[in-house]
Amino acid sequence: MNNEELWQAVLGEIELSISKAQFITWFKDTVILSNENGKVVVGVPNGFAKEWLENKFNANIVKAIRNFQEDIRELTCTIYGPQEKNTSGKSIDMVKKPSQMAKTVDLNNSVSIQNITQQKQSFYQINQRYTFENFIVGENNELARAACYAVSQELGNTYNPLFIYGGVGLGKTHLLQAIGNEVIKKNPEKNIIYISSERFTTELVDSIKNQKIDQFKEKYQKISLLIIDDIQFISGKEKTQDIFFHIFNFLYQLNKQIVISSDRPPREIQVLEDRLRSRFEGGMIVDVCSPDLETRMAILRAKSSEKNFFLEEDVVRFIAENIKNNIRELEGALNRVMASCDLNKKTPSMSYVKEILSDIISSRKKKGINHTDVIKTVAEFYGIDEKEIANKGRKKRIAVPRQIAMYLIRTELDVSYPGIGELFGGRDHTTALHAFKKIDKQLKEDEKMAEDIKILKNKIFSFN
Ligand code: ADP
Ligand code: MG
Repeated sequence: MNNEELWQAVLGEIELSISKAQFITWFKDTVILSNENGKVVVGVPNGFAKEWLENKFNANIVKAIRNFQEDIRELTCTIYGPQEKNTSGKSIDMVKKPSQMAKTVDLNNSVSIQNITQQKQSFYQINQRYTFENFIVGENNELARAACYAVSQELGNTYNPLFIYGGVGLGKTHLLQAIGNEVIKKNPEKNIIYISSERFTTELVDSIKNQKIDQFKEKYQKISLLIIDDIQFISGKEKTQDIFFHIFNFLYQLNKQIVISSDRPPREIQVLEDRLRSRFEGGMIVDVCSPDLETRMAILRAKSSEKNFFLEEDVVRFIAENIKNNIRELEGALNRVMASCDLNKKTPSMSYVKEILSDIISSRKKKGINHTDVIKTVAEFYGIDEKEIANKGRKKRIAVPRQIAMYLIRTELDVSYPGIGELFGGRDHTTALHAFKKIDKQLKEDEKMAEDIKILKNKIFSFN
């Protein structure tokens, strides 16, 4: 077994033991550089991967190698040049001429700085409130946070593009903006744009209307960092995708950093052009998940102390235990407690907090979420018409989302099977039961289904 075969075998083992996102993040572009006297040296693309592989994954890797070669005692990582890993002529070319590259970039920057000093503030659209310092790290977002931080330290060279996805209120915008803030802090002269894809579309449409499309493109081509939030909204908008693709390629080829967020992974964005999808997939993809209890408590503590508002530990626990879906809701609850205490001159005792939050905490049914919200969310997510879900069509494109909607109405709203049958065009209760069983089973076997359900629940409960 040569080093390459050994490493492939080891990666095969490791891939089974960690999540896909983690695997891609840390093990992409790694190789065994040497293997002598019980010491293995693994080549990694950057310092960031080195740190994680040496510290967090060391034991896993050594264990996996020992399955194939028992005498391994030590593992170290070393950063190896991008020249060695790049296979496309274009990137090698760019890597080989750093001085030239730097010049072009500088030139671009200085030109654009002069041109846009006036607009620079609005160029950023970055809220200083969102930083890495005040972002609480938990298992749910550790990877995303680390990837964002790495990107902010070395634009264009670590992970490009960086694609972050996850449900509402889980900190995507916070992380994206933290990258922006960090870059501004380190390098105020860098041109960066943070924009939501909706706003991008509006600007684009305006510029077409006013015959200023060239200026529009030019503005984007001058920057070092492009952050696009909520990219899912460009799905189906051909012209926007087309222009975005060109801007993307232009920046990408110059090694400019691109960061994108979405509520779902690229492969699940409906009607996204294949060329864009594969571009996104060519970079680094990480997810943010719902935080666990500990993380929610840590976030509450941090947010309340930021606001100089003291909460007893049992109150923190109470809120965190009851508000689980996302962090925006958690913040909302805290703000409500603070406002009520302030207004009524009360201290946030357990009994008072329970009273203030009773309606948020009480059942979801009371929160006013009903089957139409569920159907609407599911239909929107799968890009089909709400009406289609309820009527009789049997096409698979419709049938699966319909079963998912039935499943969610059962699990989240406790509607009975006959009740669900009623809601879906007077179907028999066995149909609803069958849908429930089928999705329940698939959920355990199919990662994609589990992910969809997770995202959907999050969306449903972020209704206000
Ligand atoms: P998303 O863009 O994923 O919908 P946001 O980034 O807008 O979510 O987050 C919602 C709110 O929760 C923001 O006020 C954000 O600051 C806060 N938040 C999210 N995650 C964290 C975290 N890990 N630590 C601190 N605050 C967080
Ligand atoms: Mg957001």
